[in-house]
Amino acid sequence: MSSTILLRHIKTLATFDDNATELEGVDLLIRGNRIAEIAARIEPPPDARVIDASGMLCLPGMVNCHHHLYQTMTRAVPCVQNAELFEWLVNLYEIWREVTPELVYISALVGLGELLLTGCTTTTDHLYLFPRASDGKLIDAEIQAARELGIRFHPTRGCMTRGRSKGGLPPDDVVQSEEEILADCERLIATYHDPAPDAMVKIALAPCSPFSVEASTMKLLADLARAHGLRLHTHLAETRDEERYCKEMYGMRPVEWAEEIGWLGPDVWFAHMVHVNEVEIQRLAATGTGVSHCPASNMRLGSGIAPIPKMAAAGVPVGLGVDGSASNDASDMLGEVRQALLLHRVLGGARAVTAREVLRWATRGGARVLGYSELGRVEAGALADLVLIDLEQLGLAGALHDPVAAPVFAGDSHLVAYSIVNGEVVVEKGKLVRVNEQELVRRANEAAAEMVRSASRKTGIRFLEFPA
Ligand SMILES: [Zn+2]
Repeated sequence: MSSTILLRHIKTLATFDDNATELEGVDLLIRGNRIAEIAARIEPPPDARVIDASGMLCLPGMVNCHHHLYQTMTRAVPCVQNAELFEWLVNLYEIWREVTPELVYISALVGLGELLLTGCTTTTDHLYLFPRASDGKLIDAEIQAARELGIRFHPTRGCMTRGRSKGGLPPDDVVQSEEEILADCERLIATYHDPAPDAMVKIALAPCSPFSVEASTMKLLADLARAHGLRLHTHLAETRDEERYCKEMYGMRPVEWAEEIGWLGPDVWFAHMVHVNEVEIQRLAATGTGVSHCPASNMRLGSGIAPIPKMAAAGVPVGLGVDGSASNDASDMLGEVRQALLLHRVLGGARAVTAREVLRWATRGGARVLGYSELGRVEAGALADLVLIDLEQLGLAGALHDPVAAPVFAGDSHLVAYSIVNGEVVVEKGKLVRVNEQELVRRANEAAAEMVRSASRKTGIRFLEFPA
C-alpha cells in the first residue's frame, strides 16, 4: 500500500537530474508512488510516515540492466571457478538442466533481495533456459518473487534453439522450438506486460546469444517485440570466442550480424559489448542501441575490458549490469558501481571515469537503457524509487569530504539503509521488509546443494572438485 512518506533532514541528495543537482540538508515528500516535493523544510502531513534521513545520502534507485537470477544457485562451483565463458557454460548447463519453477523462485528471492539491499530498485532478468522436464512457467515464478519483495521488474523471455545436435553449446533438452518460444512469449506478454510508465512488471524478449539461437528466430522475435512495443535484449560481443564463432558461422562480426538481422535500434540493448571497434561504437550511437556494462562478470570470466567510457562519450546509452550470479558471484549493485570505476582506471588511468559518471550509468543511464523515462533521477513528479545510504558507518568515516563519491571509493559494506520502490519501503535499516532473510538463506542453500547432487547423480560429473 503506497502512502505518504517524509524523508527528513537528508544530509546529501544527489538527484541525477538534467543539471546534476546536488542538495544538502533537504526534506523529501513522497505521495503515493511519486516524489511530491523537495524543499529545505517540509511540514509533515498528518498521515505521513516520517523517516529520519539525517546522516544519509539519498540517490535514485539504481537500475540493473543484466542478470540471470537462476544462476544464483550455482555460485562458486569448484569445477568452473577457473573456467572461461565457453567451458564455464558447458559444465554449468549440466546443473542448470535441473532448474524448476521452485528453484527459479528461490533463486529470484535471493538475487532480487540482494539487489534491493545494495541499492537497486529496478532490475531486468535474462532467463533463457527452459528444461523440458520443467513445466515452462519459470518467468512466472520469478515475477512472483519480485512481487513478494516489492522490486520493479523487467524480466526478459529468453530462449535457445541451437542445441548440441545443431552445433550449439547447450544440451538439446534445454532448447526449444520456435513455435514453443513464440507461444510462451505471447502468453507472458498477455499475462504480465504493463506498458504504463510506472509499471511494476514489464516483459522484454531476449534470445540468448549468437551461438545458441538461429538468425531466423532472432528476426521473428524482433518482429513480435516491435508489434507489442517491447524491448529486445541479448548477449553480444562478450568474448573473442564469440567473435570467432560469428565470423565462421555468419561470415561477419557480432555487431554486423546484429545489424543484418534488424537488431540495432533504441528498443535494443546488449549485454557486455567487450570486443567492439570504433566503427561499431558509432553504429550503436547512431541507432541509439543501449549497452549493459557488466564489469565484474567480464573480470570474473577474464573476458576483457569493454570500452565503455568511449561508448558513453560517443553517445551510446550505457547502464550497468551485475550479470549472472554465477559469473560474478554477487548481485551487488553498489559493488558493481565501484568495480566499474576501478576497471576503467586499470586501462585508462585515473581520469578515465569519475565516481559521479559511474553512478550516472547505474541510475539515469540504466533507466534509459531499459526505457523508463521517470526513473533514475530524484525530482518532484518522478517515480518514488530511491535509496538511502547511511554515511555514518565506520567504513565511510573520514570519507565525507565528498558524501556522493564516498560509497564508491570507500566502505566495506554495500548495504543501503533504505530502499523505496514505487513509494513503498522495501528495505528498512539494512533488512528486507517482506522476507525473512535467515529462512531464505537456509532454504536457498538446501535447494542449491540438492540441485548439484541431482545433476551429479545423472551425469557422473564431479562438480565440487577442481578439474585436474
Ligand atoms: Zn549474461
